[in-house]
Amino acid sequence: MPPLRKPTALHYPRRRAGSSAAHDTIWLFDLDNTLHDCSRHIFQRIDSNMSDLIMDWLDLDRSEADALRLDYWKRYGATAAGLELHHGIAAADFIEAAHDFDVRGLVHAERGLARKLARLPGRKILLTNAPQGYARAVLRVLGILHYFEMLWSIDHMHLQGRLRCKPSVAMMRQLLARLRVPAHRVVLVDDTFSNLRSAKAIGMGTVLCHHPGTPHNARHHGRSPYMDRRVNSVGQLLTARHL
Ligand SMILES: [Mg+2]
Repeated sequence: MPPLRKPTALHYPRRRAGSSAAHDTIWLFDLDNTLHDCSRHIFQRIDSNMSDLIMDWLDLDRSEADALRLDYWKRYGATAAGLELHHGIAAADFIEAAHDFDVRGLVHAERGLARKLARLPGRKILLTNAPQGYARAVLRVLGILHYFEMLWSIDHMHLQGRLRCKPSVAMMRQLLARLRVPAHRVVLVDDTFSNLRSAKAIGMGTVLCHHPGTPHNARHHGRSPYMDRRVNSVGQLLTARHL
């Protein structure tokens, strides 16, 4: 398996004469409920771990911990961001602890995912609010780690001393600056509406990878102005008109 490039070492070549727009596309893939289905086992495991940690670290009971976890997730895109902002808990410590389990046997994804990703032209980068170790482990189980040039995880999402995870526009701008590419060449594939809204706001292409288990998705039907495409699987990206 070729080594993954680190974020600080990214240098993309200029567009080659004659290369197609599809091959110049840079795909930003979300991880949970986009590249794999978390709803069967993993989300429950992470949520349970997070509530256990909040109970322990903030001396709350189960219902209070569950409510706080959900509230910070809605407000900041990640429970860890709220804990860092309001309680001085290092987000990295919390995230690492909550994701510290063996994912083997818990990962489920659409059939032929690796083959489909291989056929999808363009560069692929992971953009996840999950920690690096967990993301790497899931991609390894899925057999697709080697398709990603970079894993941009929550470990890379501190800006000016504060955690800025998806849907932070500032974080997405930082990523674009690091990639040195215009926003119109980048497409975010994600199951969460707020993340797509931010990406669209700064000029990226957007694809909703619909997952019925993602909170709030049940309220939305059809397309939104900040959604270029809607798919039900990664494989459906292969049928896009521009490919
Ligand atoms: Mg997701």
